[in-house]
Amino acid sequence: MADRFFPNQMPDFVSETAEEGVAESSGDSLLKLLSLPYSSISEKFKRAALGLKESIVKETWGYGGRRVRDFTIYTGSLGIAYLLFKSYQVTNNKNDLNLCSEIVQACDSASRSSGYVTFLCGRAGVCALGAVAAKHAGDERLLNHYLTQFQEIKLPKDIPNELLYGRAGFLWACSFLNKHIHDQTVSSSFTGPVVKEMIKEGRRLSSKGRCPLMYEWHGKKYWGAAHGLAGIVHVLMDMELKPDEVEDVKGTLRYMIRNRFPSGNYPSSEGSVSDRLVHWCHGSPGVALTLVKAAEVFRDEEFLQAAVDAGEVVWERGLLKRVGICHGVSGNAYVFLSLYRLTGDVKYLYHAKAFACFLLDKANKLISEGKMHGGDHPYSLFEGVGGMAYLFLDMIEPAQARFPGYEL
Ligand SMILES: [Zn+2]
Repeated sequence: MADRFFPNQMPDFVSETAEEGVAESSGDSLLKLLSLPYSSISEKFKRAALGLKESIVKETWGYGGRRVRDFTIYTGSLGIAYLLFKSYQVTNNKNDLNLCSEIVQACDSASRSSGYVTFLCGRAGVCALGAVAAKHAGDERLLNHYLTQFQEIKLPKDIPNELLYGRAGFLWACSFLNKHIHDQTVSSSFTGPVVKEMIKEGRRLSSKGRCPLMYEWHGKKYWGAAHGLAGIVHVLMDMELKPDEVEDVKGTLRYMIRNRFPSGNYPSSEGSVSDRLVHWCHGSPGVALTLVKAAEVFRDEEFLQAAVDAGEVVWERGLLKRVGICHGVSGNAYVFLSLYRLTGDVKYLYHAKAFACFLLDKANKLISEGKMHGGDHPYSLFEGVGGMAYLFLDMIEPAQARFPGYEL
């Protein structure tokens, strides 16, 4: 177990010194970063993020002859466009917005015949991000083009329900459009039948009164954010639900809390006894983000406490030997940003900063020494340094940070 993550030897809390001079006197470069005033560390995150963004664009888009091989947000070109959009939001640099639009347009052509429909891995991501970028560029024609294309997406009959390839991932794109364009861009008469189908399937597989909703993906009843309950329930909380459906969502979360591992971590699938994974995709980080949302939506102390407990697991075992958003340190840092937004407790801001500073201080060296995995798609948003750049940008305004493609 110990080889999946670095032991977290960072102090539980380090207060920020008012003057940089005090921090400079410490011999440890990571401790030095942790004790900097927020304005100084934020500047360092910004510089690192913008540098990374430049090299990621060069490696994936420039040197690649501006061709799309994998169009997805998860591991492909659209993820780079999403990073550019984030960079534009932070710096207001119009070049980033223009390049974002250029990449989305190439992804639009490349994804026309794709059967995948979600935000992270399918056509909905292309159309939704394209529409939002067009809105910011003031391009009405392009905005309408992407919205029309979005409405033409057909969900296959045998589509699963999870976030990466299923109904939840399509519905998340609808919520993204409603947040960034206007709140009736995709009406509930459009999403309602999809939600109804998800609830029906969840109840059908529910384990006879134990857990109100249950789903399968490739024959397994997953619990995590990417393929399972955490991701599905997370998305359902943004939908219009009937009172009995709300009770099933709450009941599903309570079932998961009651059946978590003694360590506080969550199984990756129903009945699994292997307490190994502390990732966004599988394990407590993804569940923690869903519990934070549940605490916000339902104002329930039980969900707040469970989110805090899940956060403890991430602090202990979440310093993974990978950099990315899906199953790396960057994604896990978002658990603390989310808890900070929910509670206002500066301890969580410090925890997020600690994970981000760990990356800032050590990731390059650890990757080059082979002690940390650079990702199967090393520049991508979800598996590579693209995710690290995105996190650094979010650290500049931590109260506004949102896990990309998951938190609205
Ligand atoms: Zn993963």
